[in-house]
Formats: sequence, structure tokens, C-alpha cells
Amino acid sequence: MLKIGCHLSISKGYLAMGEEAVRIGANTFQFFSRNPRGGNVRALDIEDIRRYLDYAKEHEISVILAHAPYTLNGCSAEEKTRGFAVRAMKEDLERMEYLPGNLYNFHPGSHVKQGTETGIQYIVEMLNTVLWPDMHTTVLLETMAGKGSEVGGRFEELRAILDGVKLSEKMGVCLDTCHVFDGGYDIAHSLDAVLDEFDRIIGMDRLKAVHLNDSKNVLGSRKDRHAKIGEGNIGAEALVRMMNHPDLKKLPFYLETPNDLDGYAAEIKMLCGHYQEEM
Ligand SMILES: [Zn+2]
Repeated sequence: MLKIGCHLSISKGYLAMGEEAVRIGANTFQFFSRNPRGGNVRALDIEDIRRYLDYAKEHEISVILAHAPYTLNGCSAEEKTRGFAVRAMKEDLERMEYLPGNLYNFHPGSHVKQGTETGIQYIVEMLNTVLWPDMHTTVLLETMAGKGSEVGGRFEELRAILDGVKLSEKMGVCLDTCHVFDGGYDIAHSLDAVLDEFDRIIGMDRLKAVHLNDSKNVLGSRKDRHAKIGEGNIGAEALVRMMNHPDLKKLPFYLETPNDLDGYAAEIKMLCGHYQEEM
């Protein structure tokens, strides 16, 4: 069965997100671990989580994905910003222990003129501080478009981060279709070549989730502006092909397309209709 969901607001809690997901035909979802632009976090509501977990079991909601705030930049030149990144990620991951077995995704960060190597070093340090051996969450590095001084626009950069992390078995990668396309990987016309490259450099076993987005910009633009499925330069056909690729089709797919809930419901319905169940 296709694992498909979209980004939902956590403002009413976990149970509300689960119910919303089911209502729009999704069986998974993504949410921000805290305010994406500020970094404030809602009070932890154990009762809500307990009710969500019952609901998720009943409605077969599969693995869910917490997304770190955009303000989290573990490789900033500012010590204060790096300090916030470490504290916020540690706290987020401790909270995720109430929902064991799920995923936590973050943007590696922007090195802001310090250079990619220094950026990677800081990100590795952060991960070596916040991960612990018996945690129950897989932490994902997101593939980036390489906009400005973003780290993670090349598969090699993600590989270098993974190589530096001591508990690297806790780590995986989330592939964002818009980001990799904008980063110059032509998933629209040479999907197999891109996946071969991913496998050679990072390893297919590291790939744990896909952000399924079309792109407003062209291949290699390094821009990062998501479009609705079929309204961008990747196109619906190529995205459907990805969803059905034997190496990808079992992964959870998350839409981060510019949509309201009705728009998401329509995209989910369209994608489900094009999913090829295994015989
Ligand atoms: Zn993201």
C-alpha cells in the first residue's frame, strides 16, 4: 500500500493531525516539531499523544515525520544560533521518545561564508552531541537545493556528514524531489542515473522518506520553490514514476506542495490512483 501524507499543522495536537490525515485520505503525515520560524514549542500533552497512538493503530497510520524548524541551523557562524540548534534538536528528540519508531527530519543548514567543510564539521558535532545509543527515532538529513550557502545540495556532502556521526546507524536521508531537481539532479529524465548516484555515494539503505513536490524552477536553478504536482518543471508523470520505482515505492511520501487541505486530498487521491500495488 502506498504510504502517502502531507504536511499538517500541529496546532491542535497529535490526535487532531491523525484525524485530519484520515479525513483527507492520507495514512501518514508530516508536522513541525516546533514553530518553524521562531522555535517555540507547544506544551507536551502526554494524554493527547496516548490518544493519538491508539487512533493511529486503529486507522493504520504508518511512520510519521517530524520536521525541525527552519530556524535550526547547526552550522551557523553565530555560536548562539548553533547553541539553539543543539538544544532544540535534543529536546525535540527527547519528545519523540513518546512516539517511538518515527522519523525526524532537518535541513543540514547554511554555513554562511564559513565554507562547506566547516559547515559539515559543525553539523557533525551537533549530531554527536544530541544522538544517544538507545533512542527510538531515525534522524534524517534532507537533500537541499544548494541555495545560497546551504549544505546538503550534493550527495557527497550528506555522505561526509554521515561519515562523521558516531551513531550513524540512527541516521538516514529524506529525498526532496524539488530540492534535488533544483540542485541539478535530473529526476524528470534520468531517474535511474540519479538513484544509482545516490546509491553509490550515500547508499539506498539510508533513504527513509521522500518529500514529493514539483518545482517552480528549472533543473539546476538552486532555488527551492515547491509547486503543486503537475504544475511545475518536474511534472506529474515523472513524480508518479518515482512513486512507483521499485527502490522507492515502499517509502513514505510526504507532500509539501502549496495546497490547502482540499488540494492535498485531491493530490493524494490522484497519486493513489496511479500507484501500482505489488502483485
Ligand atoms: Zn524540509
